Amino acid sequence: MKPIVIIGTGLAGYTLAREFRRVDAVTPLLMITADDGSFYSKPMLSNALAKGKTAETLATASAEQMAAELGLTIWNHTVVGTIDVEAHRLVAGGRAVEYASLVLAVGAEPVRLALAGDAADEVMAINNLGDYARFREAAGDAAHIVIIGAGLIGCEFANDLAHVGKQVIVIGPDAVPLARLLPPPAGLRLRDALSAIGVQWRLGVVAEQLIRAGERYRLLLSDGDALEADVVVSAVGLRPNTALARQAGLAVDRGIVVDRHLETSAGDVYALGDCAEVAGLVLPFVMPLMHAARALARTLAGSPTAVRYPAMPVVVKTPACPVIVAPPAADTVGEWHIESSSDSVQALFRDLSGRLRGFALTGVATANKQALTKELPAVLA
Ligand SMILES: Cc1cc2nc3c(=O)[nH]c(=O)nc-3n(C[C@H](O)[C@H](O)[C@H](O)COP(=O)(O)OP(=O)(O)OC[C@H]3O[C@@H](n4cnc5c(N)ncnc54)[C@H](O)[C@@H]3O)c2cc1C
Repeated sequence: MKPIVIIGTGLAGYTLAREFRRVDAVTPLLMITADDGSFYSKPMLSNALAKGKTAETLATASAEQMAAELGLTIWNHTVVGTIDVEAHRLVAGGRAVEYASLVLAVGAEPVRLALAGDAADEVMAINNLGDYARFREAAGDAAHIVIIGAGLIGCEFANDLAHVGKQVIVIGPDAVPLARLLPPPAGLRLRDALSAIGVQWRLGVVAEQLIRAGERYRLLLSDGDALEADVVVSAVGLRPNTALARQAGLAVDRGIVVDRHLETSAGDVYALGDCAEVAGLVLPFVMPLMHAARALARTLAGSPTAVRYPAMPVVVKTPACPVIVAPPAADTVGEWHIESSSDSVQALFRDLSGRLRGFALTGVATANKQALTKELPAVLA
């Protein structure tokens, strides 16, 4: 019997395998991954220093343990190089495999900064356990750390690093952090709370050049200023991993294009997680991949099931200023209604008929998450 093959052992791949085993205990499953196949929760990467976690303690199960628990085979340290969708065949690490169905759960890659300078390649991005191990080691001896990017991941790392006593400077092009997710009053509240624990900001500028200066770095900014740092971290976003899908001739836009059954442009080939663009949406978060995994598990077990996304607020892991945000859909016409108090901001995005379409909560207002989420429309009904 040909196996179902899942490429990738991140949260998308493993959640799918677990959901599939709930509905089908016998069909052979083969997982192939470029990394070591350890199970870990990627969101923990950006609050692991304060928790005293190493890469080893973040990994809660090895590939062997996962294979035994889920009743499947894992090929780790194995890169899938080519897929022939007509022949239902792929080549991985020099071995050819024929599949019954194939699932791409290949994640996203950090966007590379267009930096000049002899040290441009030494900027660290943290997107997997190996990256975290290198970052933790470099941060250990470092006093000054610059984070390029004032979005969700940049702010989370800033909070984590400040918590363990590092001098942190965050650089971003917008006037406030999290500008793409939060209305300015909520972003300012986050900025001020992180400032209060020692984070410094260089907002409204971009990094242009990174130069080696002895043991340290010199980072030149667009306003002509220069910063000295021991470690420079980039957190400027992620881009879906689409190279393999392109090679296979699958439709690719911002991510690997799939319909609501998570099916790509080729029959029996599916995608989910950070690599996928599901019904036009690229949502690189845990909740969407969980819903997708549940639906796809049923489809693969013989009951075609379309994915449905409820409203899925995102928790920003900045303990200095708790933030929860459910951004309105991109094309929604409406405006923010903002109430501020000394310990919270509650921003509600209402459309022209007064219906709640998104929200941003900080501080004690985060307690209203559940009640407000019930009022939101589904992301994919
Ligand atoms: C620092 C950080 C903090 C985050 N915090 C949150 C949060 O608080 N809440 C939230 O909802 N989301 C958060 N996210 C996003 C969330 O972690 C991701 O959406 C999720 O983990 C993506 O899982 P994935 O399985 O799609 O991708 P990945 O975890 O990237 O897995 C991709 C897998 O594909 C494999 N692979 C890729 N190419 C190949 C190939 N050619 N051959 C073989 N294997 C291949 C890789 O080895 C890997 O196993 C965070 C992300 C980061 C980076």
